[in-house]
Parts: sequence; structure tokens; C-alpha cells
Amino acid sequence: MVDLQSQYQKIKSDVDSAIINVIEQANFINGPEVSEFKSDLERYLNVSHVIPCANGTDALQIALMALGLKPGDEVITPSFTYIATTEVIALLGLTPIFVDVLSDTFCIDPSKIEEAITDKTKVIVPVHLYGQCADMDAILEIAKKHNLKVVEDTAQAIGADYTHKNGKVSKAGTMGDIGCTSFFPSKNLGCYGDGGAMYTNDVHLAASLKKIANHGQVIKYHHEVVGCNSRLDTIQAAILKIKLPFLDSYCAARQKVAAYYNQAFSEVKQITTPYKAPNTTHVYHQYTIKLSGVDRKELIEYLNSHGIPSMIYYPLPAHKQGMFKSFGKENQDLPITNHLTECVLSLPIHTEMEQEQLEYITKHVIHFIKSFA
Ligand SMILES: *Cc1c(COP(=O)(O)O)cnc(C)c1O
Repeated sequence: MVDLQSQYQKIKSDVDSAIINVIEQANFINGPEVSEFKSDLERYLNVSHVIPCANGTDALQIALMALGLKPGDEVITPSFTYIATTEVIALLGLTPIFVDVLSDTFCIDPSKIEEAITDKTKVIVPVHLYGQCADMDAILEIAKKHNLKVVEDTAQAIGADYTHKNGKVSKAGTMGDIGCTSFFPSKNLGCYGDGGAMYTNDVHLAASLKKIANHGQVIKYHHEVVGCNSRLDTIQAAILKIKLPFLDSYCAARQKVAAYYNQAFSEVKQITTPYKAPNTTHVYHQYTIKLSGVDRKELIEYLNSHGIPSMIYYPLPAHKQGMFKSFGKENQDLPITNHLTECVLSLPIHTEMEQEQLEYITKHVIHFIKSFA
């Protein structure tokens, strides 16, 4: 689905010397590259505070820990997302409240949020799924009206821009109270292991996030609150510092791939190509089509037999996962979510794709649909 080797080859000498430098300095934990990358990312995102951490799941967990919630408090989130978004809610003794998504953008449907709000609701966690922003103006307005916090899961949308109704442009993850991202290798800004970060414009939240990620301490060995140990390794920060200047070109390369696919599939009525809402850019962490009148399983097998990977993100929505059994939501009526799990298919997309590969993939997808569907 991704080609990280070819991407590495283009920046190899810089990355190799940065890694060797960290090893030679032996500054493995909280070395200078961590704060340098943090400042670079703050500048790129135009956000006051970036707090690096160990991975995107930790970022979401620490964000919720920083909001001072009590067990049983409710967190509104889509069910159609990667499990990490919803898992941390349950892990902290909070209650996930699943809201359906829009069938075109795949992001949470703001018109379904208010009916899910109760006097226990404290947070909304929109997910900028596949690389475009959820409808943040509508979400922020609801949050303001009901005095709720907003934690953006921007693990798939680092680099995306959202244009507000008033014309202001914000980077994904910098609009709510806290944004959470992941530097997992295959993400749009990936490191060579695990990594993550939280963003906020609130100085108090920033201090709290930093403290929680560091065993609840500000002064060494004085632990004010229960925290955890979640750090971005110096080696990973050194790699990210080199890769960050390429993020926009990486996103542009993905957009080019998406444009090719869109064009190639434009006449295929069994394929709905991804819709992009007008107020957001799309950085295509995934290129996800919707199929109708096509046996998805057979298409996947056909592609596979021709050396073409494809993936279903996500085959089982959160509300049906065994881990949430105790919440008794498996039969909750989320028609769009349920439908999408049955018809979506993600095709290979990455920064190094070549014309020849795109021709090969689209030719086979179309051939299968025309001959067997
Ligand atoms: C990748 C991802 C995460 C988790 O990130 P990790 O770094 O793997 O912990 C969370 N949410 C979404 C939507 C993701 O895609």
C-alpha cells in the first residue's frame, strides 16, 4: 500500500547522518532534536504548542486525561474510525457515544451530534478520516453552544487545511482544544518507528499535556498527577525534522495519485470516487472508493492475484467490536457506518507512485468490474 523504501532513498544521506549523530551524541531521550522538531512543527502548523509523545494512541489518551473528566463522562465520536480513537475513551473509564458519519466525506455527521448530547457529555472527538477535515465550523459551534471540549484526531490528516466560514485557514488539528496526530511510518508524515504529538493553543492545556506525558511531574521526582511515560525518541525526532520540510510535497504527490484515480474511474458507474468537501483540502492518507454492484471480496482477491494490494478501512465499526460489548451498542442504528464497512475499498497511494503502476492498478480494477461484476 505504501513504498517507504523509495521515499527513504531520496533523503537517505540526510537521514543516515542525523541518526548517526544521535547515536554518537548518545542523546537518545529528549535530545535537542526533539525540541527542534517541536518548534519546526509549531511553525508549520501555526499553533502555539506542540507536545511530542510516543504514538498517536497515547496522544489521544493523554488529551482526554488532560481534560479533567470523571468516569462515566460521555465522549462523542464516530464509530467509523481506527480503533485507537474509541479505545482510549473506554480505557479511561469514559463512555463512547457513537455518532454516524456522512456517506460522502466519511467524517462525523454534525447534524447527528446534538441528539447524542446528554448532561454527561463532555467532549467531541471528530476524526479527519482518510485525510480531509471533518466539518469543523459546525462541530465547533455545537461544542461552544453546549460547553464541550473538542479533541481532533488528525492522525490521517496532518498537512490538511480547513477554510472557516469567515475565510480564516487553519491546519487540521489546530481548531479544537487539542489535536492529536501519529507519526506511524505509513502516515503522511511518518517516522521510522512509533511517534506522535498533541497540539494546542491553550497554555494551560499545554502544561497539563506535557506534565501527564512525563509521569505527572514538572519538577523531577515530584509527581502532582497520575501520568504516563510517553516520549518521542530523539532518533525519531531527528528523522521527522528532516522529513517535515517535505510534508507539503508528499501531500501534493498523494493528491496527484488521487487525481489520476478519479479520472480513470470517472466513467465507471460501480465506483464512487472520494468526495472532497469544499472547505477542506484532502491529503489522501487513504484513497478510498465506494463500490456498488461489485463483489468486493472477489475484487480484492483478483487484485491480489495480480500483485495489487488493497485494504478495507475499516471492516468492523467500533460499536460492533468485542472490546465495547459492555456498552451494549452493537445493535445501535448507524446506517451509514454499517453500509460503508461493506462497500469501501482503499487502493495503494503513496508519495512514490509511478504512472506505470497507476495504469496497471486502474486497468485491473476496471477489467474486473467490466468482466465479472
Ligand atoms: C494511526 C491512527 C491512530 C493511532 O496512531 P498510532 O501512532 O498508531 O498509535 C489514531 N487514529 C487514527 C484515525 C489513526 O489513523
